[in-house]
Amino acid sequence: MTLAIDGGAPIRRRPFPSCNTIGDEERRAVLQVLDSGVLSQFIGAWGPDFLGGPRVRALESAWAAYFGVRHAVSVNSATSGLYAAVGAAGVGPGDEVIVSPYTMSASATAAIVYGAVPVFADIDPDTFCLDPQSVRARITDRTRAIIGVDLFGHPADWRGLRAVTGSRPIVLIEDSAQAPGAKVGGRFAGTLADIGVFSLNYHKTIHSGEGGVVVTDDDRFADRLQLIRNHGEAVVKAKGDEDLVNLVGYNYRMTEIEAAIALEQLKKLERLLQPRIDAAEYLSRHLAELPGLSVPRTDPGVRHGYYVYAFKYDAEQAGLSRARFAEALRAEGIPVSVGYVEPLYRQPMYQRGIAIGGNGFPFIQAGREPISYPDGLCPVAERMHERELLYFSFCQAGIAEADLRDVVAAVSKVLESARKPVAA
Ligand SMILES: *Cc1c(COP(=O)(O)O)cnc(C)c1O
Repeated sequence: MTLAIDGGAPIRRRPFPSCNTIGDEERRAVLQVLDSGVLSQFIGAWGPDFLGGPRVRALESAWAAYFGVRHAVSVNSATSGLYAAVGAAGVGPGDEVIVSPYTMSASATAAIVYGAVPVFADIDPDTFCLDPQSVRARITDRTRAIIGVDLFGHPADWRGLRAVTGSRPIVLIEDSAQAPGAKVGGRFAGTLADIGVFSLNYHKTIHSGEGGVVVTDDDRFADRLQLIRNHGEAVVKAKGDEDLVNLVGYNYRMTEIEAAIALEQLKKLERLLQPRIDAAEYLSRHLAELPGLSVPRTDPGVRHGYYVYAFKYDAEQAGLSRARFAEALRAEGIPVSVGYVEPLYRQPMYQRGIAIGGNGFPFIQAGREPISYPDGLCPVAERMHERELLYFSFCQAGIAEADLRDVVAAVSKVLESARKPVAA
């Protein structure tokens, strides 16, 4: 069969089904808020409305109950949630926060906004999450927090991360934006560290357009998260708060409309997640034996959330460069993404050391060596980005087996053509 990229007929001409998860339930919930006229009930002063209105509170209690945590604090994005988590953890100038380089940028900038230095540790080549051994090598007396990411929906090795921190006062922050509903041994991703952060952004498994939820079992962290969310500095006096560190507040408040939508989306989480898992497992069953491919690994006891279906590619075994494989697959009608993000430390902000003000803060601080981010800092993340990683984004609710059969047929066709001896 001639490849579509060489002028042959493509395996597929139809686009993949898109998944609109917003239905009558969300519509009704939003209309109720509109009819009430109160689109946000937050007030940035100590009193009952300091914690928001009825939908915000209903979302928070439903979220805490669903995930089995003491506290859920809603925010206007997971980015805000990560910033608030770092603030609540007490991180400040001169501190170090160990982060993954292979993630969305906010997982690392959360350290910078509190004047701390992001220290990048490498990732595990199978789960793409922080490698505890690499983290161990990066821990110093200045390490105050670790932000790990449950990347692509696979929970990071939180037990391993906890073990390498030992008895040091290091706060573990779990960026679970991509992993709502994933589990380890029956416990939900997002609840495996000291503070967990979920995203309700449009691109995530469940969404309210924009939004996020921060969870914790620690009463003091919850208190501080609420203060940071809502103008803490103006509230501490009336509230009688003694500990003022990092309680400078922002406006990270979620609206009643977003909360109403999020409440309905939470009810659908299981129904939206299981089809992703089923689709991913179908692909893994059919792609595992093909030359040059490594399908996603799931650790024992782990329920993967499959935000995307990420797999590894060995160009030598496949007999075809990764770029050519991806182009050929796209020509067959199968959208595929290459490399995920460049390791974050290659961004100009890290390379030039300019973030807050023009004098190198927080990368240059009095009393310490200036930090730099050379190439080769995290070789596994670099290798995944440059050579090995590919991912599919269509494993969502609404995808049919016929769609997945096309994927398998196209991948097989492209790989077979690579192995055919070229006619002399
Ligand atoms: C999407 C995402 C975020 C940010 O979420 P927002 O709600 O858009 O701010 C943070 N971390 C990871 C890993 C993400 O995928």
